[in-house]
Amino acid sequence: MGQNERMTQHDPVLISGCSSGIGAATAAALVHSGHTVYATARRVETLTDLEALGCHLLELDVTSEESMTAAVRTVEAEHGRVGVLINNAGFGEYGPIEESDLARVRAMFETNVFGLARLSQLVLPGMRRARTGRIVNIGSMGGRITFPVGGFYHATKYAVEAISDALRVEVRPFGIEVILVEPGLIRTNFESRVNESLEVGAAASSEGHTDNKGTAYEGLLAANKKNTAGGYANGFLSTGPDAVATVVLRAVDSSRPRARYVVTPAAKAMINLRRFGGDRLWDATMRKQFGL
Ligand code: NAP
Repeated sequence: MGQNERMTQHDPVLISGCSSGIGAATAAALVHSGHTVYATARRVETLTDLEALGCHLLELDVTSEESMTAAVRTVEAEHGRVGVLINNAGFGEYGPIEESDLARVRAMFETNVFGLARLSQLVLPGMRRARTGRIVNIGSMGGRITFPVGGFYHATKYAVEAISDALRVEVRPFGIEVILVEPGLIRTNFESRVNESLEVGAAASSEGHTDNKGTAYEGLLAANKKNTAGGYANGFLSTGPDAVATVVLRAVDSSRPRARYVVTPAAKAMINLRRFGGDRLWDATMRKQFGL
C-alpha cells in the first residue's frame, strides 16, 4: 500500500483516461484523500506524475477488449473486485452532421459509449458478488443540451445518460450505485482534440483547404470556432478539471450519492434554459449564438 492509502469501503478505484484533464485530476484527488487508485491510460508513460502521488498504474485502452479484460483482471486479482469504476475516457469529434466522417464518428462512439458500457459489464460481476460498488460515468452537460456542430458528440453523451439511467435501476438491488457527472466547459485537452477534428473535417470537405472556405457550413464553422475559443477562455463559463475531481470525490465518498451532479454554474443555467424554455427558445438562442 502507498503512503496515504486507507482502504475505504468502496476501494479500489479504477479510472479510465488519466493521461490528462479530468481523469488525471480525479486520480490525484482520490489518491490524495487516501483512496486506493488504479490510474490508467493508453500510454502508461503519461502517468508518471500520478505514480509519484501513489496511484497504481495500468495500461487501458477502452476500445480494446483485451486491454479492458486485462486491467479488470489485474485489479480483481489484487483486491477481489473493482470497488469504484470511473468511466472518464472520451473525446469530441465535431463537425456539421452532413459533413462528418462517419468512420471517425463511429470511433468516437467506440470510446465514449461502447468503452464505457463494456468496462461496466466487466466490473459488474465482481461488484454483484461483493454486493457493493459504484460506477461513476463522466457524461456532460452535452448529454442534456445540444449545440450545432457538436451533434454526434452530444449523441454519445445522450447515450451515456440513457445507459446510466437504465443501469442505475438495474443494479440497485445488488447494492451498486450508478452516478452521472455532467461537467460544463472544463479547461483540458478536450478543446484541442475538438479543434483537431474540425481541421480534419475541413480538410476533407474542402479538398485540402483547412479553413472550410467555400463550403456550405463556412459561416457556422467560423462562429463555432469563435464560440468555442471564447467559452473556454471565459472564466465565468469554464473552469479547471479540479472542479470535476472534487465532485467525483464527493460522489465516491457520499453515503447516499445523487444520480446526477452537474458541474459549473453555467452548465446548470444552460440545462435549465433548455429544460424550461422549450425548443423555440433554445433554437432561437442557438441561431443567435451561431449567427444563423
Ligand atoms: P482530455 O484532457 O482530452 O482527456 C481525455 C482522456 O481520454 C485522455 O486521457 C485520453 O487519453 C483518454 N482517451 C481517449 N481515448 C481513449 C481510449 N480509447 N482508451 C482510453 N483512454 C482514452 O479531456 P477531458 O476534458 O479530461 O475529458 C474527460 C471526459 O470528460 C470525456 O469523457 C469528455 O467527454 C468529458 N467532458 C469534458 C468536458 C470539457 O469541456 N473538457 C465537458 C464535459 C465532459 P490519450 O491521451 O491516450 O488520448
